[in-house]
Amino acid sequence: MLYLIGHKSIPLKKEISTQKCNCCGSENAVTVTVYQKYVFIFYLPFLPAGKTGISECAVCKQVLQEKAMSENLLALYQKLKAASRIPIWMFSGAALFLILFVYWQYQDKQQKQGSAQMIVAPAIGDVLEVKNKEQQFTLTKIIDIKKDSIFLISSNYQSTDASGLASLKDSSYSTEVSYISKADLKSLFDKGDILQVDRK
Ligand SMILES: [Zn+2]
Repeated sequence: MLYLIGHKSIPLKKEISTQKCNCCGSENAVTVTVYQKYVFIFYLPFLPAGKTGISECAVCKQVLQEKAMSENLLALYQKLKAASRIPIWMFSGAALFLILFVYWQYQDKQQKQGSAQMIVAPAIGDVLEVKNKEQQFTLTKIIDIKKDSIFLISSNYQSTDASGLASLKDSSYSTEVSYISKADLKSLFDKGDILQVDRK
């Protein structure tokens, strides 16, 4: 069966107890094993999730969970547990997630800095990602610049979220031309109504 998210256990450490099996009385037959649980996502180990343990008799096959172990077996389990280390690969998913997050933050910062530089030196052909009002976003293209005035045409389409603007990039633009001063353009950017400047 296919699980996209779940947990697995692997044995970390085992040792044969000096205590006789409390079920069949066999000597040197009971093995205590420490297991490390971990969470996986899409087959990738994500994060470790606690240790568990069992004892098993090789002769009568009696298996005891931690709670049912005798004091002696429990002491052995605690000793093994304290001595076993979490394998570092169990952090793979979380580490990857962290790296992607940091990279994404860096990219976002770079993009914002780039836009801040371009907005004060606009160029013909720049495409501005604009927020018209709550949940209404569109693209506006600079088609001409004359002294302090910037001439713009807007996309014929809108998106309810900023991430949808990418799909409007090749859509048609209105023939209606509007204009704005460079100072007003900058203040729209500072207010957050212009989200990003895309320049080829
Ligand atoms: Zn036994």
